[in-house]
Amino acid sequence: MSFSDYFGAEQVSEGVFHIYEPGGVYTTLILGEEKALLIDTGYGFEDLPAFVRTLTDLPVQVVLTHGHTDHAGGSRLFGEVFINPEDIPVYLWYEKTQKKLIVDKFRRDRAAAGLPDVWPESFNAAAYLAAPPREFKALKNGQIFDLGGRREEIIFLPGHTRGSVMVFDDKTGLLFSGDNISSSLWIFFDHSAPLSQYEAGLKALMGRSFSGILYAHDGFIYPPQIMEELLTTISRVDPETDRVFIHPRTGQRALKHREKSRLDLPHPYIYVVYEPSRM
Ligand SMILES: [Zn+2]
Repeated sequence: MSFSDYFGAEQVSEGVFHIYEPGGVYTTLILGEEKALLIDTGYGFEDLPAFVRTLTDLPVQVVLTHGHTDHAGGSRLFGEVFINPEDIPVYLWYEKTQKKLIVDKFRRDRAAAGLPDVWPESFNAAAYLAAPPREFKALKNGQIFDLGGRREEIIFLPGHTRGSVMVFDDKTGLLFSGDNISSSLWIFFDHSAPLSQYEAGLKALMGRSFSGILYAHDGFIYPPQIMEELLTTISRVDPETDRVFIHPRTGQRALKHREKSRLDLPHPYIYVVYEPSRM
């Protein structure tokens, strides 16, 4: 399987490509008149830079929404890459302890689902696992990437990870949320922010206007009302009655609260998975 069959790109808005990668993660490419911005880099199993070149000839700057391997693993394939420095320890911990588990789980999930082997021709697991961690450039909250004809604003929102970053595109009004805003908020990691900090940060964003929200694990654009639904779900979490959740890879235990969504989404429920000692 070549890189052009491995990845799939859909233009979801003017000059905005949502790039799908097997394993259920998306990266996003935004095209300006002079430059492009790539948000996240996927697992890094296949040649994403070559695929991006099939979509644009513009110089590409790269920003990571956070340090998890399904977003940052491919960063070693690019030159300069920006991240919130707060998430560098997260990236390093995943590089050191989670990469092999992630490769194994990817393989297992494909087999269990009866799906064909999707490893790209060029993928070498030993080389992937042995690749050293990379260095990054530091993002600042409020930083602007001027792409020519459109500006991308960096918005820090501690939540899913303490160093989680979102990107706002002034041309379409879209907010690219990484793993930080969707129908399923995972905020139970040791490196997640306290739930109350996330709640305050999300409330502070309610005064701003967004046309929609693009999340890194869904192919569709969420209506901005998803933020309100998340806040409602957070306000109703209850460690006394919420169900136990076990992380499928690490076995970490957390609690899960769900509320029925009133939005017309492919997902009928809004989930908040949280650690009761970090409310
Ligand atoms: Zn994540």
